Amino acid sequence: MKLIDRGWINQADEIPDDAVPVDPDLINLGGSWHRPIFFSDQPFVCRDCGVSCVWKAVDQQWYFETFHAPYYETANRCRACRRKERRRKEQARIDSGHAVDTPPAE
Ligand SMILES: [Zn+2]
Repeated sequence: MKLIDRGWINQADEIPDDAVPVDPDLINLGGSWHRPIFFSDQPFVCRDCGVSCVWKAVDQQWYFETFHAPYYETANRCRACRRKERRRKEQARIDSGHAVDTPPAE
């Protein structure tokens, strides 16, 4: 296991069964001293509509290892509000005359 090879953990059982191990080569630590070793489902409350959500471990893995967002970012909006916010930003860019980036897939 890469996490053991790199010395991030000593034993495989430091990763809970239902967690997704971090890939040290892919994770974007964003300059943080804190090295996460696994992703686990993270409950949070949407800051826009107040609904209770869970940020799934596999979604975090995608966000930090595929999309390369810095690790210190956390979920703060539910899926519906994220869509709304993204549309709002895209519209703002269009209104300001800038090209639209390809939004990340979900
Ligand atoms: Zn919401």
